[in-house]
Amino acid sequence: MPSYPAIETDRLRKVFGERAAVKGLTLQVQQGEVFGFLGPNGAGKTTSIKMLLSLIEPTAGTARLLGAPLGDRSVRARIGFLPEHFRFQEWLTAGEFLELHGQLYGMKPARIKEQSAALLERVGLDEFRDKQLRTFSKGMLQRIGLAQALLSQPALVFLDEPTSGLDPVGRRLVRDIIHELRREGTCVFLNSHLLSEIEVTCDRVAIIRSGEVIRLIEMAALDSGRATVRIRGRGITPEICSGLENWGQAIRADGELVSLNVQSEESLPEITRFLVERGVQVYQITPERLSLEELFIETVGKDAGL
Ligand code: ATP
Repeated sequence: MPSYPAIETDRLRKVFGERAAVKGLTLQVQQGEVFGFLGPNGAGKTTSIKMLLSLIEPTAGTARLLGAPLGDRSVRARIGFLPEHFRFQEWLTAGEFLELHGQLYGMKPARIKEQSAALLERVGLDEFRDKQLRTFSKGMLQRIGLAQALLSQPALVFLDEPTSGLDPVGRRLVRDIIHELRREGTCVFLNSHLLSEIEVTCDRVAIIRSGEVIRLIEMAALDSGRATVRIRGRGITPEICSGLENWGQAIRADGELVSLNVQSEESLPEITRFLVERGVQVYQITPERLSLEELFIETVGKDAGL
């Protein structure tokens, strides 16, 4: 895999009139990574994506995609994009639509044919190849949009809210496709408010506010990191409860139930030993991991909308 990052931005900035929509985005996304881009409404996510895709000009700052400066034509042919608010050519059939986009990518006719057939099947629309897009439901349009984004077998794909119009089956399909893309080494830049989906698909996540990265999260670290441990046991005296404070803040719900906020699940065996040695009969000791949603709200503040 090439040594340059898939995306590299340095203080990328966009001002609309008096207002900075993106104050200064500095970010690196590696090749083959599935990267989540999160932030409250109006945080500048779509504006950032539009700058990266050269749909709007940055006011200041620089960025490189796949090692080349923004706007490089040969690199643009290796990038896929599913916009949040798409308006497709609804008078075209699904097959014609993919053909048109293949031509816009500069793909050879035989490759367009082969890729279209494979992708229509992949997104579950092969039966609708000859149907006009105006007859499609929102979910079907989202699926054909995804096929369009993947048509040129891009090295980097931007998916802006790819599951917003989809039912649970459609969401699962998108999730499976993202997993396949990762296996193939494609970098996916995913903007979504569905944190549960980000949680199961992304390797890393950036939380942004006003177009600045305020937190970077490695999802693997989140898995083994902070957790609330629920302990149910007979014989937890107030002394034992205060002894638990060695590992974190302990809150006693009632005589038998204690919840303990620990920094790492690594401390679970020690906590169990501590309780057993003091004669507590342990019925349950369950870690509940800090979810991405909790981390998001902790980071951007409770007032921010998702
Ligand atoms: P959401 O999660 O709601 O889609 P977002 O993070 O994608 O939000 P943007 O759409 O990038 O946010 O908008 C960031 C800010 O820039 C908002 O305050 C928005 O009103 C403003 N903005 C975006 N586009 C323009 C424009 N063309 N002209 C003026 N202001 C704009």
